[in-house]
Amino acid sequence: PPPPPPPPPLFFFTQKTPSEILSGLVGSEMCIRDRNIHEYQAKDLFRKFNVATSEGKVFENENDAEEYAKSLDVEEYVVKAQIHAGGRGKGGGVKLVKTPEEVREMVKSMLGMTLVTHQTGPEGKLVNKVYVEAASNIKKEYYLSFVTDRATEKNVIIASPEGGVDIEKVAEETPEKLLTQPIDPVVGIQPFHIRKIGYFLGFDKGQVKQLGPLIQGMYNLFVETDCSLVEVNPLIVTDKDEVKALDAKINFDDNAEFR
Ligand code: GDP
Ligand code: MG
Repeated sequence: PPPPPPPPPLFFFTQKTPSEILSGLVGSEMCIRDRNIHEYQAKDLFRKFNVATSEGKVFENENDAEEYAKSLDVEEYVVKAQIHAGGRGKGGGVKLVKTPEEVREMVKSMLGMTLVTHQTGPEGKLVNKVYVEAASNIKKEYYLSFVTDRATEKNVIIASPEGGVDIEKVAEETPEKLLTQPIDPVVGIQPFHIRKIGYFLGFDKGQVKQLGPLIQGMYNLFVETDCSLVEVNPLIVTDKDEVKALDAKINFDDNAEFR
């Protein structure tokens, strides 16, 4: 028998599919029209807007990184190359280590290296800065972003229980796993948005409760700093049921540069 038709889209207000909104928004094309910042800068903005993230700091030399690692009371660290491209995990730009000495060695080996990921092109990108973060124990990875749909000029939230993977691929292959929620600029984030997204992600009550301030913070950041994209991939739930942003990507609208 023929395969069943795909389920109806889960959004209203807009007739566009998540893939239509995503195409041309996420990925390399964005850099042409938008300015983007590094993960560590995006996470600094997250902290300012009360979006939950892990403790971390950026370094340009291994000595400072080791000292910082010693000051963190954790059992594991994550060392992350700061380049203007995603896919670092698969390309060797995100590494977990256990001791401050290993942090030192990892930072040293990443600094000055040319990192090649599926988003950098074959020439790769030079690593000048490395971010060191308290590692998280991940229970599950999700996807969450705010984007401006250029065609309708509406801000939308995109959420998926499929995190830590290419969202364009999810949009193409399993669009039913993407929720697109337009936000009316006059009323902003409403409690039902949080409940709807939480339900779609399969969150329990305690997790939904944490999602509220996280989404509100992302929205405030998005609106107040003229972003065209605020993307968290992955958003995670930890083994202690904390909901937080493990990765951060922010692009700014070029047209807002004069402000
Ligand atoms: P990207 O590959 O450039 O998007 O970099 P990410 O920051 O998204 O990290 C890539 C992957 O590394 C994530 O999807 C996680 O699976 C893994 N990762 C990053 N930070 C941590 C961490 O603190 N703990 C664990 N266990 N894995 C992590
Ligand atoms: Mg990521």
